[in-house]
Amino acid sequence: MIDEELLKIMCCPACHGDLIEREGKVVCLKCSRRYPIRDGIPVMLIDEAEMPEAKS
Ligand SMILES: [Zn+2]
Repeated sequence: MIDEELLKIMCCPACHGDLIEREGKVVCLKCSRRYPIRDGIPVMLIDEAEMPEAKS
């Protein structure tokens, strides 16, 4: 779990969208990239982000 206040002040480095915590990851509401949380600290690096799976 990470601090909600921290999530509020952070934004997605890729698109500057709002972030939420879901299933142990930080998820961008705008582009749906998922950032890992290591030792309680979100890793807000585009290179570390998981891209949303394409649905087609
Ligand atoms: Zn984003």
